[in-house]
Amino acid sequence: MPRILVIGSSNTDMVVKTARFPQPGETIIGGDFFMFPGGKGANQAVAAARVGGVVDLIAKVGNDVFGTQAVEGFAHEGINVAYVLTDPKLASGVALITVNGEGENEIVVAPGANAALTPADLDLAEAAFESTDLILMQLETPLETVLHAAKKAKALGKPFVLNPAPAQVLPAELFPLLSLITPNETEAALLTGLSWEGEGALSRIAEALLQKGVENVIITLGAKGAYFQNADSYFQVAAPVVTAVDTTAAGDVFNGALAVALAEGKDWQPAIDFACQAGAIAVTRMGAQTSAPYREELMLRVE
Ligand code: ADP
Repeated sequence: MPRILVIGSSNTDMVVKTARFPQPGETIIGGDFFMFPGGKGANQAVAAARVGGVVDLIAKVGNDVFGTQAVEGFAHEGINVAYVLTDPKLASGVALITVNGEGENEIVVAPGANAALTPADLDLAEAAFESTDLILMQLETPLETVLHAAKKAKALGKPFVLNPAPAQVLPAELFPLLSLITPNETEAALLTGLSWEGEGALSRIAEALLQKGVENVIITLGAKGAYFQNADSYFQVAAPVVTAVDTTAAGDVFNGALAVALAEGKDWQPAIDFACQAGAIAVTRMGAQTSAPYREELMLRVE
């Protein structure tokens, strides 16, 4: 079975629906309160585990009830939690989410312990680095930790996949360490300073990322699927047509599933197709981790 090492954030998403957003200084009465496990690292780890990956997760939670619940949730998904650390002083990461009547959201993230995941923490997980088939990371933990992970992967000859979300500018030294980068359109534009609109924009953006030293590029395109490019080829994979009810974590589910497909040795096209199927199922369901499909659901479609 493919072994995946996911390194990243764990948050608890706290959601209240309201008819409208409050003004500064105003208190309004909202609807019911919901709490979901989230955080890009945790979401991707769960997505990978559900489609058949043997997953090790390196993350940091706080010494509070949210952290304890998150770790219980990971263990329930079959994820190895030996490298999920608990910071004795900091709070666990939380995201305060308000959703208005139009379905728009306002989100404030308190990163808490996620911001304290250090390069030294990664060195505690040497065995996970050595035994993995592929390493998957995002940008909700400190950049120096991302860079350290990428260097370790390179030294061990392990594929390192970066999902560069949330969008931010990255140091030049990181790109040559990446086997694959998987931005969405907004992230791809920010990373390259190029517009994603107009004829040929995708290949121009992908080319710019390849020039920076990345080996392979996948740009996710929401309902339009995903675009692949490397030095040898380029193509677009269409997404299945579905009725989207909640696009939260579509990218996370795509990345978790993609990691497993690649670690299994699937070629680029079938691997991206597999990930698009998983992403499409995720948008038909509510929540982040709750929306990630299981392998059996994908087998009906693509294998
Ligand atoms: P992000 O969630 O990071 O912004 P995207 O919106 O590009 O990323 O979605 C990631 C993947 O999820 C897409 O490449 C696609 O495969 C799938 N997906 C997202 N939205 C839809 C949709 N409306 N219909 C079908 N598939 C979708």
